[in-house]
Amino acid sequence: MTKPDHFDFFVIGGGSGGVRAARIAAGHGARVGIAESGNFGGTCVNVGCVPKKLLAYAADFPAQFEDARGFGWRSGRLSLNWRKLITSKDTEIKRLNGIYEKILTDAGATIIRGRARFIDSRTLDIDGRRITADKILIATGGVPVLPEIPGKEHIKSSDSMFFLPKKPKHIVIIGGGYIGVEFAHIFSGIGAKVTILHRGDRLLKEFDADISETLETEMRKQNNIDLRLNTGLARVDKKYTHYVVQTANGDRIKCDLILGATGRAPNLAGLDAPVDLTPQGRIKVNPDYQTSQPHIFAVGDVCNAHNLTPVALAEGHALADRLFANKHRAVDYEFIPTAVFSNPPVATTGYSEQQARAKGIDVEIYRTSFRPMKHTLSGRDERTMMKLVVDKKSGRVIGAHMVGADAPEIMQGIAIAMNAGATKAVFDRTIGIHPTAAEEFVTMRTPAKPKP
Ligand code: FAD
Repeated sequence: MTKPDHFDFFVIGGGSGGVRAARIAAGHGARVGIAESGNFGGTCVNVGCVPKKLLAYAADFPAQFEDARGFGWRSGRLSLNWRKLITSKDTEIKRLNGIYEKILTDAGATIIRGRARFIDSRTLDIDGRRITADKILIATGGVPVLPEIPGKEHIKSSDSMFFLPKKPKHIVIIGGGYIGVEFAHIFSGIGAKVTILHRGDRLLKEFDADISETLETEMRKQNNIDLRLNTGLARVDKKYTHYVVQTANGDRIKCDLILGATGRAPNLAGLDAPVDLTPQGRIKVNPDYQTSQPHIFAVGDVCNAHNLTPVALAEGHALADRLFANKHRAVDYEFIPTAVFSNPPVATTGYSEQQARAKGIDVEIYRTSFRPMKHTLSGRDERTMMKLVVDKKSGRVIGAHMVGADAPEIMQGIAIAMNAGATKAVFDRTIGIHPTAAEEFVTMRTPAKPKP
């Protein structure tokens, strides 16, 4: 066998965390290699954030055309060319794959295509090619997990939703987490009937309860969404051209597509990584992203529970800076903003009211719910909810939550203020931008009464 190629730093996985770490390490002068078994950009670019947002834009148009009528517009009959939408999306994703590869090669990293597997703690096999490295980063991300029920083989994961040959007429979505409600928006927006089966008693259970309540209320107003909470799943059967989903309470739902949005697990299959795992099956790392083997590191979905691209990017960047430029910068996990591209969209930063109370923080709550100005003319029956959770002792805003148009765009600025330690008094003395929905975040003056 020929001598293996040797690297200072070898990265397994060309997704958000891996590409960032490889690029920064190469920029610091390290000899870097990176293996990718699929397409560069990972989950986010290929089957996550990016294609999802493009499809969500497509799903928004019918409501916008409808709302325009209240402002005097008349439009003709609408139709969606699904094939054109998917082809245009694919073209954009291909462009991004190329950009990711280019930034790696421009930085001086060596790209090796194929699936990496550990031979020993310093040697990898990549489809028959041997490499060794002083330091190895595992950034293999996550994979969808489908429910274990009879007929599981008929259930598709979120990965398949981006490549459907035709749009569904009736989709059953299993799971009321963020992936489930985002696809509910996409498919209901393009005109399909959507049934959501969720075994829990509220959508988005990790979020503030007011977010769940508001989103459920708004989704139930939408004619083509049938939201069923507290509903388990018994089995799935294929009947010629369609499927029948049977719930645990005996209801039978006929549909032509089933999405299992029931969680994600770390992608470790076939990797033979000689490192310790957490009880949840993630790679166990210390605050420096070091595994149980001091020269093997892990970042992103394979080791954290946040499952967000900016978190994987921040971790990969901080690791490369520490290892190859002696720069120590800890990633701050306390006020991570996040959004759900549902209809209406959701965004949040920091603690929910429930989390803050569970931590024993004495909180003051500010909450508002209103009809957005646009809908006074459009006639749409939709309300926006905003909420602040304030630490009574310090006055700091420790939680901000919103359901309503533009929530993700608005929340980024709020997150900056919260990371800077803004108190409620700072929010109060900030001049609002009028007329916007966002100004409500600086005009809530009266604490809300505790909910029963
Ligand atoms: P990934 O991006 O998953 O990259 C891992 C890479 O490793 C993959 O390319 C894979 O092919 C490769 N790989 C795996 N094993 C091997 C191996 N043995 N050898 C070689 N290569 C290997 N996050 C957000 O912040 N905002 C969003 O709106 C958002 N929407 C999402 C929507 C969906 C439907 C999904 C599924 C995820 C979404 N996410 C979103 C989450 C986000 O995509 C992930 O948090 C992010 O991609 C994690 O980055 P990573 O580097 O850990 O892994």
